Amino acid sequence: MPAVVAHPDDESFGLGGPPALLSDGGVPTTVLCFTHGEASTLYGRPGDLHNVRAGELACAARELGVERVELAGHPDGGLTDVSRHRLASETARLIGELRPSHLLVFDAGGVTGHRDHQRATSAAQFAARQVGIGVLRSTLPRRWRTG
Ligand SMILES: [Zn+2]
Repeated sequence: MPAVVAHPDDESFGLGGPPALLSDGGVPTTVLCFTHGEASTLYGRPGDLHNVRAGELACAARELGVERVELAGHPDGGLTDVSRHRLASETARLIGELRPSHLLVFDAGGVTGHRDHQRATSAAQFAARQVGIGVLRSTLPRRWRTG
């Protein structure tokens, strides 16, 4: 089952439970991540975040049992500048390849309200509707959200 997210770490903090459970249950999982997360200010980590966060995503995917990661190069913090149609087309390509019954995404509010999260969810939902598959929306209890 493909999970569609905006940034490296979204697969873990927002969706980590479901991919891990699916993987443990023998369901192959893929993460489509639209950005490298290069605009993150979390923890003030030095280095080239474009590459650092890609590495973090790969490590997280291994821990979660995710079989495959597709990391696109759209601008972190700028997904709303990318047409929803383009993001949906990238999602639809993956759907066409994997033939899943559902996609896994954040809730419509993007869990934290981040516009990139909302855009990723919107594009994935649009792609799913176009091909007639379901969408599983994940959210977190309000008290666990980071802002
Ligand atoms: Zn994010």
